[in-house]
Amino acid sequence: MPEPTSAPLVVPTAAGLYCPAGDFHVDPWRPVERAVITHGHSDHARLGHARYWAARPGLGILRKRLGDVDVVPVEYGEPLAFGRARVSFHPAGHVLGSAQIRIEADRATWVISGDYKREPDPTCAPFEVVACDTFVSEATFALPIYRWRPTAEVVDEIREWWLANRRAGVASVLGCYALGKAQRVLAELLRVTDEPVYVHGAVATLTDVYREAGVAMVPTLPVSAARKDYAGELIVAPPGADATPWMRRFGKASTGFCSGWMRVRGNRRRRGYDRGFVLSDHADWPSLLRTIRETRARRALLTHGHSDVLVRYLREQGVEAGALETAFAGEDGGTDTPATAGGPPLGAVGAPTDANAPAVPERAREA
Ligand SMILES: [Zn+2]
Ligand SMILES: [Zn+2]
Repeated sequence: MPEPTSAPLVVPTAAGLYCPAGDFHVDPWRPVERAVITHGHSDHARLGHARYWAARPGLGILRKRLGDVDVVPVEYGEPLAFGRARVSFHPAGHVLGSAQIRIEADRATWVISGDYKREPDPTCAPFEVVACDTFVSEATFALPIYRWRPTAEVVDEIREWWLANRRAGVASVLGCYALGKAQRVLAELLRVTDEPVYVHGAVATLTDVYREAGVAMVPTLPVSAARKDYAGELIVAPPGADATPWMRRFGKASTGFCSGWMRVRGNRRRRGYDRGFVLSDHADWPSLLRTIRETRARRALLTHGHSDVLVRYLREQGVEAGALETAFAGEDGGTDTPATAGGPPLGAVGAPTDANAPAVPERAREA
């Protein structure tokens, strides 16, 4: 594998990560001519670009979120030419249609991971290891305390919680990010039940997109004003909905939240959830290390929050490492706002961050 060249294939600019050899941006945060998009979360796919390139399975999400923008759908693995750069999209295992971007030019190969995870997920194609010289990796959960348990165990816990609440005669309201996490939970629940689950409007809109893409999930029903009694039912809602008048219709309810941040007990307590379920669409600490190793990259550049611990660790392993400044927020609550996903307004959940968690407010993070 060639040494990383001195001229980087991707550089941070005011508009976002920019590839000079191909004259395009990856997930830019200011309007640009050519935007190569890793996935549909709001901190990665924004309005205002002249033209978008996105993996075909994520097209429905992009259309739902951005409307009638000019998008070129790209197959995973399909070679594209931008200037003197060869570009291809590879599955990131994060949400439906999520992609890593491989860029080859000037005898160097870079991969921009976007957001990714290594756990199997029935709602999207599995992460593909793509060899490169420089791997631009997300680092949302780049601390050794973040280790995920097998998804099946967490889903069993959710089911047990739901059934215990039913025996107690109360509803179960489960907070899940509206794009990705909610659909993953609905798909994983199929292994243990085919009972219908009620969904908040913001979740319903995106769940329809997943269903249209052929993702199998438990049946879903809208939460409607007509129904008076939700005792014993499971309701999936975006984060923050539990702090709004929307919650009143459920009467007595137990509240839960699905997120990697639930790994830190204080986060659940401060946000007032009865239960926290540790389920993330991002790589945990062991997966970050394993992935960087498997790409055989000589250099890792990290995005998304606190990466100093990981930078230090990688340097000790002989990997050149550094942070790359971006405007990516983790996975943000913006994907759950009514402006992008429909549904009633959500109350802000003001919660101080945990000492162990990155300094961005939790509300602004998706996990
Ligand atoms: Zn992200
Ligand atoms: Zn994301």
